[in-house]
Amino acid sequence: MNRFNFTPCKLEKILGRYIDLLLKYNAIPTFPITANIVDRYPETIQRLQKRGAVFEIHGYVHIDYTRLSLKQQEEHFRKAIEIFQKYKITFSGFRAPYTRWNDDTMEALKTNGFMWDSSYTMLLDIIDKKDFKKKQWDAYQKAVRLYTPGKVAKQVVTPRIMKNGIVEIPMTLPDDEIVVDRLGIRKQQIVKKILWTIFKKTYERGEFFGVQVHPERVTLYRPAIERILKQVEVFNLPVWKATLKDIAEWWIEKEKFEAVIKETQTNVYAINFKCSKRATVLAKNIETGHFDQAGIKGNGKNGTSRFVADPSSFTESANWYGKYKLVNSISELKVHSDKKPIIGINPNCSDRFVKFLKEDGYIVEITKTADNYSIYFNGIKEFDEIEILKQIEKQDVPLVRFWRWPWAARSVFSITGDVDALTIIDFWGRIVETHFSN
Ligand SMILES: [Zn+2]
Repeated sequence: MNRFNFTPCKLEKILGRYIDLLLKYNAIPTFPITANIVDRYPETIQRLQKRGAVFEIHGYVHIDYTRLSLKQQEEHFRKAIEIFQKYKITFSGFRAPYTRWNDDTMEALKTNGFMWDSSYTMLLDIIDKKDFKKKQWDAYQKAVRLYTPGKVAKQVVTPRIMKNGIVEIPMTLPDDEIVVDRLGIRKQQIVKKILWTIFKKTYERGEFFGVQVHPERVTLYRPAIERILKQVEVFNLPVWKATLKDIAEWWIEKEKFEAVIKETQTNVYAINFKCSKRATVLAKNIETGHFDQAGIKGNGKNGTSRFVADPSSFTESANWYGKYKLVNSISELKVHSDKKPIIGINPNCSDRFVKFLKEDGYIVEITKTADNYSIYFNGIKEFDEIEILKQIEKQDVPLVRFWRWPWAARSVFSITGDVDALTIIDFWGRIVETHFSN
């Protein structure tokens, strides 16, 4: 019961200091909170919002929403919104208590106008069995079964736009519940190691990492989070520190990006990007050189090069990650190449496949003319996302694409923490609510 042995005043102090620390590194935390807690302590929440935290809706009360009907879920979310509005607590998204949701939850969110949800979990398997006793390992396995997370071996950890238009932002596991309650970790040093391992993995994969720390465990997690925030400042590539709302807004903005490609002369493609200024546009296997009237000149090595783009198309520090270079999205990119430097997809591929590539930032055209494209897919229905990305990236061909994140960021780091209870009274209240809603 130690976990909730706080007064709201004490927790406000801890959270306040935590927010101040994060703000020092320009990181704004996202706190999904149940509406009844807001109703109970509106002034505390208002003060924390004023201090810089972003609150979001974590249900009306802390219950398993899959046990409620669509109508009941709609009613709960509506009541939650009313409370947030009453106390002028801003919100844009939702995280389900216990990360338990069903199709009705998503429909009820849509009806109530939510922009995003973050209840779908993705497990990074960084926990090593040999570091733990059997009892802890079993508890960990049990938790994983309970969460039924997506597998990073086959899936990319990024947001997705769902059928109803809501942006689904994954929640990264292991979270603090697994680390503390299941694995029994109590040492800051070990938490530091775990978080750093997750962070490095998401950076390498260019993905989203949303650390989840309940407010009452902030002290245990502080050094681990501070280490990441400090270290990323000296990284080669930026890491975008974003709230869940920032991420949802970006994902909606990115969805509309397009590239218009025209063959202006034989084997010369002019590409115009229709995107926002903060978009990250990348190109690989395209060397810079000058176009002149006579044709194409290379970058000096051998006089000519097969894939040449005007150097003005590239930004000053053009080298980005791997073979990719940063492209200036405002000017026209002219590429000399015998094929279109994008991906062609046969209409016989599944819609899901097309959606996946586009959402990941690739520029695609649906076409039966395979020969015209640097990369071409035929007959793909079901697929393993990671395997597809490997296939694309291992090919040494000219390729132009949008990147997943803005401002040339390699990956995203988001700090979240569900506020389920502020005091021991809330904690017991939570049990009563859960009981009576069944
Ligand atoms: Zn919760």
